[in-house]
Amino acid sequence: MVRLLPLVILLACSSSGAVRDDDPPAAEAAPAQPAAEGDWAHMTEAQWRARLTPEEFDVLREEGTERAFTGEFHDHHAEGVYVCGGCGQPLYRSSTKFDSGTGWPSYYEAIEGAVETEVDHGLGMTRTEVHCSRCGGHLGHIFPDGPEPTGMRHCINSVSLDFVPASEAAALEANAAD
Ligand code: FE
Repeated sequence: MVRLLPLVILLACSSSGAVRDDDPPAAEAAPAQPAAEGDWAHMTEAQWRARLTPEEFDVLREEGTERAFTGEFHDHHAEGVYVCGGCGQPLYRSSTKFDSGTGWPSYYEAIEGAVETEVDHGLGMTRTEVHCSRCGGHLGHIFPDGPEPTGMRHCINSVSLDFVPASEAAALEANAAD
């Protein structure tokens, strides 16, 4: 009698390198606690979304860029102070604004201490990104082709800014200096 050995058929998994789920971003793994009122640097995404319009959120918090010549301030010439659209910190005086012809509001310098910069390698270019020093909101970029006295051009999204007319701006800057 022929003894039949059990035939074991092994099916090899064609995808032996199993696909692993990527680890979720840390921000999702541990939901951030809401920041206290006025703690601009620690506001959560949900808090910013509640405070900003979708367009403001896209630019200020996601580093988006508004289309040229579409913003509120590229052709705006009133005297006053442009403040952060996120937290209200005074950023640029109208006296430093110039017509760059780019379609974005442009300034040759910021109010002292109001902005910070970092190198931005996005879009295949190396640029200097500029953001509000208080809330971190993205404002735009700085280029070395501006007018005297600084030779710099702060190319800013209108949607990142609000405007305070001169009649109200003095008190605003005095409070900011306190
Ligand atoms: Fe801000």
